[in-house]
Amino acid sequence: MASKLCLQLCLLLAFITPHLTSARHLHNRKPSPFLFPKHLIGSSKNDSIVEGIHKVKAYLQRYGYLSNENEKKLSTDAFDDDLESAIKSYQKFSNLKVSGVLDRETLQQMSRPRCGVRDTYVSVGQQEHENKNTNIEIGGSHYTFYYNHVTWPAERRHLSYGFIHDFPPQHVDTVRRAFQTWEDNTKFSFFLSPRVQTADILVSFERGEHGDHEPFDGEGGILAHSLGAVDGRVHFDADDRWEGDPMERYDLETLALHEIGHALGLGHSSSSLAIMWAYMYKGFPKTRLTIDDIEGIRALYGS
Ligand SMILES: [Zn+2]
Ligand SMILES: [Zn+2]
Repeated sequence: MASKLCLQLCLLLAFITPHLTSARHLHNRKPSPFLFPKHLIGSSKNDSIVEGIHKVKAYLQRYGYLSNENEKKLSTDAFDDDLESAIKSYQKFSNLKVSGVLDRETLQQMSRPRCGVRDTYVSVGQQEHENKNTNIEIGGSHYTFYYNHVTWPAERRHLSYGFIHDFPPQHVDTVRRAFQTWEDNTKFSFFLSPRVQTADILVSFERGEHGDHEPFDGEGGILAHSLGAVDGRVHFDADDRWEGDPMERYDLETLALHEIGHALGLGHSSSSLAIMWAYMYKGFPKTRLTIDDIEGIRALYGS
């Protein structure tokens, strides 16, 4: 028990130390601009009608906190019980103060660039948002599983990957490093497919609507997404900044690690240190899996 704790502490330190410099830079950076009107700050159920609050509903519905069962309700500016409940779930998953009030920190978090995969999945008629199929909390773990718990079958542990749609050659090694990191920490091994058409995991840059009903949104907002295990598609938004000054671009290796995690069956983690945390910051690379990521993949495939 003691040695396990010591190992976990050592792994945590090993992860944090390389980022201390980056974290300092992050501290000096301007907060991201709000995606939402500033007058929404502080609004709550007491306000009944809040002009523009439907934009927050759309965000919460987009990321799985509000059901789209009643589209009419989603399009109004009524601050109702469902919205308060969804804000609470969002705050809980994002490690914010759980109040149901749309405070500055909550709006700030919603404005941050992120992965397009949903955090949780609210089924029709379910407004409790405690999705027992995807959110688990055991012994302080924060990982979740991708929609429907789809995993690669037991005989598929040696997976191929390929780069399509004129993938920029200068980024190939970066993504390969991300595959290697997962290989080093799991039962999986990965190899570059000799025939790209048949690769298990297809990696590409895409823009706008690109054929999977999950359109990208130009600069900022959604940076990447994956369609999960067995499908295997991993897409980066070509309209985001991936090159140039490390403080001004997104780190592709970080995003690749994250999206490969989805392609293996993981969902988002509520630990901000985890690779599977949904939000990405310029100038703040994460290139190692955390204990939470590793525990998540072991929960899916065994250790
Ligand atoms: Zn994601
Ligand atoms: Zn896509």
